[in-house]
Amino acid sequence: MKQKTSVVIIGGGPAGLSAALTLSDEKIPATVFEADPIYLGGISRTVRHGDYLTDIGGHRFFSKSPEIEGFWSRILGDDLLQRPRSSRILYRGKLFSYPLKALEVLKKIGYGESILCTISYMKSHFIPIKPARTFEDWVVNRFGKRLFQIFFKTYTEKVWGIPCDQISADWAAQRINSLSLGVAILNALTPWRNNSRKVKTLVESFRYPRKGPGMMWEVCAKKFISAGGMVVMGSPVDRLSWDKSASQWTVEGSNANGLRFKHQATDVVSTMPLRDLIPALDPPASAAALQAANGLRYRDFITISVVVEEGKNGNGDDIFQENWLYIHDPSVRVGRIQNYKSWSPELVPAPIPGQPSRTFLGVEYFCFKGDGLWESTDHELIALAKKELLATGILKNPEHFIEAFVNRQEKAYPVYDDTYQDHVATIRDEIAIHYPGLHVSGRNGMHKYNNQDHAMMTGILTARNIIAGENLWDVWRVNQDAEYLETRSGLGGLIDPPVKT
Ligand SMILES: Cc1cc2nc3c(=O)[nH]c(=O)nc-3n(C[C@H](O)[C@H](O)[C@H](O)COP(=O)(O)OP(=O)(O)OC[C@H]3O[C@@H](n4cnc5c(N)ncnc54)[C@H](O)[C@@H]3O)c2cc1C
Repeated sequence: MKQKTSVVIIGGGPAGLSAALTLSDEKIPATVFEADPIYLGGISRTVRHGDYLTDIGGHRFFSKSPEIEGFWSRILGDDLLQRPRSSRILYRGKLFSYPLKALEVLKKIGYGESILCTISYMKSHFIPIKPARTFEDWVVNRFGKRLFQIFFKTYTEKVWGIPCDQISADWAAQRINSLSLGVAILNALTPWRNNSRKVKTLVESFRYPRKGPGMMWEVCAKKFISAGGMVVMGSPVDRLSWDKSASQWTVEGSNANGLRFKHQATDVVSTMPLRDLIPALDPPASAAALQAANGLRYRDFITISVVVEEGKNGNGDDIFQENWLYIHDPSVRVGRIQNYKSWSPELVPAPIPGQPSRTFLGVEYFCFKGDGLWESTDHELIALAKKELLATGILKNPEHFIEAFVNRQEKAYPVYDDTYQDHVATIRDEIAIHYPGLHVSGRNGMHKYNNQDHAMMTGILTARNIIAGENLWDVWRVNQDAEYLETRSGLGGLIDPPVKT
């Protein structure tokens, strides 16, 4: 006899909570188990340090999908601010506007270098590398070796920790941002060209919760709870057992006090990393699936949130006003720096009359657990951030560095290396064949380099499949590359075309 549907959701991030709310709208009983003892929102959480609020990376709320935009409006309404988008690139001590401006590029990289970039572009245009196997080949073919070295190599290698000649060309093709950056530079350097690769207008503004991205997920969880759902914090799931005869899942884990918990359901929505999910399954997954899961890699991420005094007279002169700066400079390890106040003034406490105003910077480092940086003490990381803020000239006076806090984010980025697609395909088949009622969603949950909107869409479609009692939607077809979605033409939604399987 088919049991009444009930659902366990592993993870209280955007994917898990979007699935949760969608299920509660249809009165399907659901329980969310979240590993973190304090914060909801996963990578999209907001971390509190006294009165200062940290976003783990700046989280723009922007989607091509009216449904996702509607979801966000429904949750936060007027608490969503409309923010202008502004960023610049720091390269060899010079700040370049982004999108690039022709005259500024010419002036700042110098006329001599500009001519060399143009010659190098021409060379690649007429004698491309064939076949283009790697990210480096792909970018050099499109923009020339010199532009590759100035605007692509350092930042890409900082983000991924892999030399550009070891990143696959397929991955490059998906990185729309890189394409638009290159096209922008080329347009700046070769204004006579008039081809189809003009940059589409960048989204010039985005929405942002006034208390940071976590506000979205905290309010979403409240709505879910008031509709009858349950959220259990500090409860990492470590075992999922499928009882074929009872058509039932038992999900287990340990809570913050070390006590074991067990919960039963007909369906499980997992947003936990695939690498952790597969070895937690019972009956055990096949050797091939275990090996595939073990082969998945992730890039980790550290943000050092720094309180600084703004300008000698508190006039803000010393600190950049953009949302963030990309640090292309190879002489420092920092990859990006956020100015949280430019995201929302409410991330920073109100100024105290008569005292210099303060701002809050996110100094971001991409790393791998085990590479030394991750293992550094907080004290060492804070010293590094201070040193590099001064070295880049962003902070001019060491005395303006007031205090700092360290935030570590494990598995911030699923790595797209040469083998990940095969590994994901193996896991996907294994789950489809052997584990009915187990649904994977979200970023690490599907090993997809997704933004919130795509992660949410996979959660929502998964919930709809559960509500329908059949797989109407193939969540694997939700488009992968969200971050620079706005630069893509002809893309009306997040899944193309809407499919029935
Ligand atoms: C630096 C950076 C900048 C970004 N900028 C943007 C942006 O501008 N705009 C945007 O839309 N997106 C952005 N993103 C992407 C966004 O953070 C993710 O797409 C989104 O958070 C993914 O949601 P998720 O629910 O799939 O996963 P997650 O956010 O990873 O949430 C998963 C949750 O599951 C929990 N969990 C894991 N394992 C277990 C377990 N065993 N048991 C119980 N719970 C578990 C985790 O604690 C976490 O809360 C950015 C990401 C990064 C790293």
